[in-house]
Formats: sequence, structure tokens, C-alpha cells
Amino acid sequence: MRIGEIINALEEWAPPVLQESYDNSGLIVGALDWETSGVLVTLDCLESVVDEAIEKKVQFIIAHHPIVFSGLKRFNGRTYVERVIMKAIKHNIAIYAIHTNLDNVLWGVNAKIMSLLGVSNHSVLSPMADTLYKFQVYVPRAARKEVAEAVFAAGGGKVSAYQECSFTTNGKGTFKPTQGTNPVVGEIGIREEVDEVKLEFIVPNFAISAVEHAARTTHPYEEMAYEWLNIANKATDYGAGAYGELPEAMPFDAFLEHVKTTFGTTIRYTKPIADKVRTVAVCGGSGSFLLGTAKAVKADVFITADYKYHQFFDADAAITILDVGHFESEQFTIGLIAEFIEKKFPKFAVLTTEVNTNPIQYY
Ligand SMILES: [Zn+2]
Repeated sequence: MRIGEIINALEEWAPPVLQESYDNSGLIVGALDWETSGVLVTLDCLESVVDEAIEKKVQFIIAHHPIVFSGLKRFNGRTYVERVIMKAIKHNIAIYAIHTNLDNVLWGVNAKIMSLLGVSNHSVLSPMADTLYKFQVYVPRAARKEVAEAVFAAGGGKVSAYQECSFTTNGKGTFKPTQGTNPVVGEIGIREEVDEVKLEFIVPNFAISAVEHAARTTHPYEEMAYEWLNIANKATDYGAGAYGELPEAMPFDAFLEHVKTTFGTTIRYTKPIADKVRTVAVCGGSGSFLLGTAKAVKADVFITADYKYHQFFDADAAITILDVGHFESEQFTIGLIAEFIEKKFPKFAVLTTEVNTNPIQYY
């Protein structure tokens, strides 16, 4: 299979435009038309993982963490990053990263953690700003349905779990065709007045081009009248972290045990603020930047990783911080990606790495 086909599916699931500015998600080594007989999914793409791909005759590695974050100037094998890239290129192995864009979708990294913790209904902890736009288009009444259908099919009109959302206002459009135009309605030099509707849709930033193209190709006029508007609404499907409620409040000690078993690790945590835990906030990976938001939604606990000594004080008797370790908090991401590809391409070989890429040892 061409790796481009797999990448298309991944990018529909976790649009790259949702990645954070410091990130480098996407195709790092390889080209879209490279062929592969399977994929190897890993959290980190180390040299040992490239070796594993060579050995298992798989030409495509999908990693959560990008192996390259910033510009490389030399390729002489002095750093582990250079060695990974050199080896991958030498053996025609493509490397793709699906990182903060997978953190930032409601069904991503944190959804998997939530389901394992037993929280069935979770929300995005910090919904993204500047992700949603309003598309307004003026259409002759007879073409209303056709244009709306095209916009829906291109990804417009989605509001949380509701699809095909739109609003229609009736009105009159005026225009005067001038020399050189080829109007569908009206004559050159005469002002025309037509019964039209204004259609309005919410559109996420990654669907803007597709929606505009879909509307333009179905709109009957030579010149489509439309507007894109910035709106202040935050995207409830996209953003960092997640929070939700356990089906029943759990005594703190039992919850701690539950977390320990789920993540299979030791936990560093702050003093419990209550005897029982009900509302849980999580952020796989380094999530300390979300502590204020976790407090704002009145979470009892915040499960994340990479906490430093002084940051633990920020719990400030308002929440309990549980640091489960970076690798441990994201370990389920491998399964999440593998399950997605298996479902999309049922006959395709999807392997998960046997290399433990966690750089941290515990004694
Ligand atoms: Zn991470």
C-alpha cells in the first residue's frame, strides 16, 4: 500500500493543523508514494525501532513523538536523532509522527486514558480557540439544498456531535452584470434582483478550503458571494486534556490503586483534597500547563506527567496532582493508533513495537 493512503486516513482522524506550534507532526522521512507492506507503531522512533522495522520487513514507522523537532544541519551520526534519520533513509523506511494533533482531538490520547479509567463521557479540558470559522454564502433559493449538501459533505456544519447544522435566512440579492461577465441570471447592464437565501455554517479551520471549493463548484452563479468570519467560539471537539466523571465517587486510596494498576507504574502525588474522587482531569504527557483549567472545572484529581518539585505546590489544596510518568501516561497511544489503522485497513499488517522506548529506568 502507498503510505500516502494511510497518512490521508490518519490526517482525517487527527488533522495536522491542530498540532501545537512547537510540534513537528507529519511525514518526517519518506514520500507519499512510497510503498509499504505494513506499519510499525511506536511512541518514540529510536534506532532500535528502525532496526525492528528492517527486521520485520515493514517500511513505515508511525510514532507519537516526532524524532526531529528542530532543524538539523549535519548528518554524520553524532547524535541519536541523526542516526535514526540516516538509517531510515538508507533502508527506505518512512517515519511519520502524529503527536499534539492526536493529543488535541476529543477521541485521541486522552480518550483512551479516560476509557481505561472508566470515565465513559468526557469533554476536552481546554477547548481550542481560533479553530472555528463562520461561512456565509448567498445562494439563489432553488440551489439552497445542493450547496448545503456539498458544504456538509466537505466537513462544514459540524457542532460537537451534531452534523449538518446550518441556518437559512431569506432575502433579496442584487447585482448588475457588466461587460465581460457571463451571468446565469440577468442581462448585461441591467440591475437584477433575485430571491436568494443566506446559508450559514460553522467550519473548522482544516475544512476551509474543501468547504469553499464545494460551495463554489455547486453554486450556480459565475461569481459566488460569500464571507468567512472569525468567531470567538471555542472548538469543543479539539483542545488539550480531558475531564469527566467516574460512574461513582471512589475512595481516594482505591482510586490511587486503580490508577497504579491502569498505568502500571509508581505515582508521585500531592495530598488528597477529599476522601473521594469523582471528577477526573487528565493530560497524557507534559500537562502542567493545564493545572489552572483542571482546577476551574473542579476536578478532584489531575493525572499527567513531567511535574517538577516546585510545580507540585501549585496544587495548593484545590486539586490533587498525580504524576504517572510521561511514557506511562502515553503508553496506550500505541494501541490507539494501531486499532485505528486496523479498523480502516482490515487486511493490512499493523505491528506494535516490541522495543521499550522509555528512557527512564526505575529502581
Ligand atoms: Zn509525549
